[in-house]
Amino acid sequence: MSNSTTDKLKTRPALIDPFGRAITYIRVSVTDRCDFRCVYCMSEDMTFLPKRDLLSLEELDRLCSSFVNLGTRKIRITGGEPLVRRNIMTLFQSLSRHLDSGALEEITVTTNGSQLAKYARDLYACGVRRINVSLDTLNEAKFRTITRWGDFNKVMEGIDAAQAAGLSIKINAVALKGVNDNELADMVRWAHGRGFDMTFIEVMPLGEIGEDRSDQYMPLTEVRSILNNEFTLEASDYQTGGPARYLTAAETGGRIGFITPMTHNFCETCNRVRITCTGTLYMCLGKDDAADLRAPLRASESNDLLEATIRDAITRKPKGHDFVIDRNTSRPAVSRHMSMTGG
Ligand code: SAM
Ligand code: SF4
Repeated sequence: MSNSTTDKLKTRPALIDPFGRAITYIRVSVTDRCDFRCVYCMSEDMTFLPKRDLLSLEELDRLCSSFVNLGTRKIRITGGEPLVRRNIMTLFQSLSRHLDSGALEEITVTTNGSQLAKYARDLYACGVRRINVSLDTLNEAKFRTITRWGDFNKVMEGIDAAQAAGLSIKINAVALKGVNDNELADMVRWAHGRGFDMTFIEVMPLGEIGEDRSDQYMPLTEVRSILNNEFTLEASDYQTGGPARYLTAAETGGRIGFITPMTHNFCETCNRVRITCTGTLYMCLGKDDAADLRAPLRASESNDLLEATIRDAITRKPKGHDFVIDRNTSRPAVSRHMSMTGG
């Protein structure tokens, strides 16, 4: 591809929402199913969507490609567990043409790591260069308690395989009161020792999980003060286009990210929307308003109606969300689980 064609692709006009934010990032949940049952994410007896409601991989490609045509520069593939979807590599393979053309800057993945030993090399071959691996503890028994069904050693093998394949890795941990609050500094040391960024996330009130989230919730202000006792935390202007704010630990030279939807929402710089595996577009993680993209996708072979529906939905993107977790607010902010909308 010539330089001028690539430049043209890079400068195509983005979708602009009513608050002037350019929407250039989509997160696509390719399945709501998962091989784990993390306690803050799902109940143990989750009901999943009927398979017939799911978009096919070809339809997911068409949907993503329409967003690319409307100025999307970054796609994150997530879930549920994205790597348990059958034949998922064909989606990565087909989307990689947008990396080759210069229209997309990057394709990333958020995964629990269970299938990485199998897929890390294929992901790299499809142009993926950065992945997020969710890991809330380094303790095997605790890992089992948090994930209910997860195999810690398999995840560690997956992380090794991803590193060997050349993928750069960010570890994401949800801060859980009374669960991993005594090993936060150890996790940072381990991650930085292996050359990974380490990010902490606050528990969000998404979906019924059969327990009270106020028992789990730990504000990241507390995480930061715990880490402050162990490290010299220095300001950093590093940005990935995501919601994390970063500090550098002087002792390790590594980065620590903080994602704080509860204590400090980051809506003013929001550049993203989320799509479920059934083709529902959520303009905000914390709000119920949504647009059905499956019907326009299936209505015709041309993408005109689909792209018009996307443009219209972006005009309804709200200014922000307002999550609350306390003992007086027992219902989740939205009824859908993170595994449906995609983290
Ligand atoms: N299964 C993959 C994984 O765990 O990385 C991708 C999907 S998962 C829903 C994406 C991220 O959302 C994970 O890092 C997970 O820890 C986080 N998550 C799930 N439920 C959450 C909640 N209620 N509050 C905050 N983070 C949550
Ligand atoms: Fe599965 Fe990820 Fe949810 Fe855990 S956080 S249950 S791995 S979707």
